[in-house]
Amino acid sequence: MTHSTLRDLEHHDAFIERHIGPNDAEIGHMLEQVGYASLEALTDAIVPGSIKSPQPLALPPAIGEVEALAKIRAIAAKNQVLRSFIGRGYYGTHTPNVILRNILENPAWYTAYTPYQAEISQGRMEALINFQTMVADLTGMEIANASLLDEATAAAEAMTLAKRSAKSKSDTFFVSKNVHPQTLEVLRTRAEPLEIQLLVADDAEAATADVFGALLQYPDTFGGLGDYQATADALHARGAILAVASDLLALVLLKSPGEFGADIVVGNTQRFGVPFGFGGPHAGFMACRDAYKRSMPGRLIGVSVDSDGKPAYRLTLQTREQHIRREKATSNICTAQVLLAVMASMYAVYHGPDGLTRIARRVHRQAAILAAALRQAGVKVADGFFDTLRIDGVDAAAIHAQARAARINLREIDAGSVGISLDETVTREDLTALAGLFGAKLDIDALDASTADAIPAALRRASAFLQHPVFNTHHSEHELLRYMRSLADKDLAMDRTMIPLGSCTMKLNATAEMIPVTWPEFGNIHPLAPADQTTGYKQLIDELEAMLVECTGYDAVSLQPNSGAQGEYAGLLAIRAYHRSRGEGHRDICLIPDSAHGTNPASAQMCGMTVVVTKTDANGNVDVEDIRRNAEKYSDRLAAIMMTYPSTHGVFEEEVVEICQIIHQHGGQVYTDGANMNALVGVAKPGKWGSDVSHLNLHKTFCIPHGGGGPGVGPCAVKSHLAPFLPKTVDGEGVVGMVSAASYGSASILPISWMYVTLMGTQGLRKATQVALLNANYIAKRLEPHYETLYTGRNGLVAHECILDLRPLKDATGISAEDVAKRLIDFGFHAPTLSFPVAGTLMVEPTESESQHELDRFIDAMIQIREEIRAVEDGRLDREDNPLKHAPHTATQVSASEWTRAYPRELAAFPLPSLKLQKYWPPVSRVDNVYGDKNVMCACIPVDAYKEEEAEV
Ligand SMILES: *Cc1c(COP(=O)(O)O)cnc(C)c1O
Repeated sequence: MTHSTLRDLEHHDAFIERHIGPNDAEIGHMLEQVGYASLEALTDAIVPGSIKSPQPLALPPAIGEVEALAKIRAIAAKNQVLRSFIGRGYYGTHTPNVILRNILENPAWYTAYTPYQAEISQGRMEALINFQTMVADLTGMEIANASLLDEATAAAEAMTLAKRSAKSKSDTFFVSKNVHPQTLEVLRTRAEPLEIQLLVADDAEAATADVFGALLQYPDTFGGLGDYQATADALHARGAILAVASDLLALVLLKSPGEFGADIVVGNTQRFGVPFGFGGPHAGFMACRDAYKRSMPGRLIGVSVDSDGKPAYRLTLQTREQHIRREKATSNICTAQVLLAVMASMYAVYHGPDGLTRIARRVHRQAAILAAALRQAGVKVADGFFDTLRIDGVDAAAIHAQARAARINLREIDAGSVGISLDETVTREDLTALAGLFGAKLDIDALDASTADAIPAALRRASAFLQHPVFNTHHSEHELLRYMRSLADKDLAMDRTMIPLGSCTMKLNATAEMIPVTWPEFGNIHPLAPADQTTGYKQLIDELEAMLVECTGYDAVSLQPNSGAQGEYAGLLAIRAYHRSRGEGHRDICLIPDSAHGTNPASAQMCGMTVVVTKTDANGNVDVEDIRRNAEKYSDRLAAIMMTYPSTHGVFEEEVVEICQIIHQHGGQVYTDGANMNALVGVAKPGKWGSDVSHLNLHKTFCIPHGGGGPGVGPCAVKSHLAPFLPKTVDGEGVVGMVSAASYGSASILPISWMYVTLMGTQGLRKATQVALLNANYIAKRLEPHYETLYTGRNGLVAHECILDLRPLKDATGISAEDVAKRLIDFGFHAPTLSFPVAGTLMVEPTESESQHELDRFIDAMIQIREEIRAVEDGRLDREDNPLKHAPHTATQVSASEWTRAYPRELAAFPLPSLKLQKYWPPVSRVDNVYGDKNVMCACIPVDAYKEEEAEV
């Protein structure tokens, strides 16, 4: 060190070494184990020469955290934060600081994975079941899911749920003229490929139209309140379904849709403590009648029991999901908005029914007072509203100009009308300023005394909500802080252990990447704020798009899709529109290898395509001959192939270039699922080897955290011939409509990926990919004497993940991959991906962010588990009564006075000595999957259930 130059010392600040887990010494050691002299040699041995990029990425070099934050700070400063009363589904809100810091900014919550491993996810599932209970209560419905992507896509899901469930055989769906414009826009996009006709008309016409379902907005987009009881009855009489888009804060004061006959209710929970974020992410929701639960899209948390008979949460009715149903799935939803749903649920837990009522009443009184003042000044204000005023007969341009000068944004309706939506952040000063725009004077207290509420008596809420104790207990900050901490402590997230999930790329979500997300210049921007206020966002988006173009070799990118599955949908729509533009609209066959992720066939189905499944050969490669056969057979009808690369089997297929040629010869387009880009960035570019379109998962490869199952960003990247067919933006032109509610989807988390690319630079991104390959091969190599790796590519190497085959061990010992997954919990690990893409296997993806120390810890656990399996094989452990079958073990079990198992307690809890220094205790033992699906229960557990349990002890 004494001889280091200043430049060397400065370089040592580099973020690359923080992001990449192993240091150079460890890299050298691991390379030796794997048998290669350098990262370059290893890369050459794994990646086929035919796809390798000839040049390094044309990106700037890496910079340090301080410098990168300064750069993005300057970008953020270009956004102007005005007071936005635009409404249209997005409202100001105060994120309670205790939730901001301890959920949104807390890696225990944001680095968690989707709760597929129930035993280590009880905390976030409790938060989600609170969310479901909150939504079901306020909407007056029987069941709610654990979030959808946004209100507009939730409305589209309601349309298709209605189509599946209605008795009416009509193919027309009624949509009120007064739904939010972005909702109508997404409905149009989604209806067309499914050959659903939309009838857009006045609410009154819903009662007589021949339709399978109807969507109304309550309160409507201009604030109006309709009484829809008769409409509901008329629709039901014709076997049609009523879906209602609504607003949870309004429902605090309004008769719930369930009480007037709605069958499905959708909306957005943004105003429950989640900032605008220029459009997202926020948690959309869907609630419905119990009768539709088996047909409902999205994830659903349910209550089951563990092996001790105690209540425990799990994902229920997964048989609806695309993983299992594939092209017959109810929807392609995979990643949703868990982190934001957790925030919204905690907002309700914190405020409780009384606090929410206070907030809603205050907003409503402010609106009523403002309306009264405006009317006194002779301004025309529509009657009957909750928080949104429609003002007609004004010179809108003049009003907007005056508003902007006062740093206020109002809704632009037309030349003579403006809209004002109030929210919990509105102050007396805001009200005075708003009244002043219309020349009205405001004596707030006098008007308060003389002005009645503006909600018609027939629509006032009389029913109770949020009566469960969880919403009536944690109202002091200490109580909420400790409640949130107690939930987080039940879960395993990346702040405690690697999460080696194949296909999901759980890499580092660096703190410096997260920091800009909560800056007001990114958070407090309404998605419909005028363009001159959002030039910072524009720069960020343009720059990120250019970075992704460079990383993928495509020509254009849309950041609108807010999940990977949405990106697939956008990509397939682009392919479909391209064929139609060339007079080849009849092309409808989509080839999908059998190893594909379930979202692929589900997305193809949503685009009206017919899925033809192609085979895998013995080495795990997609079967080129089968692809060729099918491409020939369906030559006239071939629309596309959807393939994942490197394949979900963790191999770089040599023939990928040839496959692209075959598909193109037959007039099809190549869709490459980019979920595995972590094996490619800086090494090879799909856009350069012949692929036409990909989605990326920024919440995998580009460091956006998983949030326990969302948010996500699934950009759609295309070659230039498909660029005209990317989804349009709110005011943009385009052949293909919007796929998400907001032009840039989950815009406020884009800084994370921008920061990642900026911090890593050209060398860092390439090295990350190479170390991801090394880490996977190191694990495969070290586990080779103990477990079989199912598929390998050239030189016996895997890509960035490896599939451990547990099937031979199951045949010999009865120990299953699931038993191993659950046993890993006793070692404090999150299991790898279980039974995807091959049943009975574990797919391990360590990512570049895990140090050799962490990899060794995992390998030691896997070896010890293999020893236990061997002991079962040898008869040293009982075939049934062994630590694998009974895993995971709770503290209650191992500390009970009575221990009746055929193996020692110490083996149960501390199978490795290192666990005595640090031990994770699962809060429940193995959760019963069958029970939960037979007894579906998706709301907060009644307190009595716990009382009975206590009584037993
Ligand atoms: C994660 C994943 C998807 C879906 O992405 P979401 O963001 O969850 O919708 C699609 N394909 C593959 C291979 C994946 O791993």
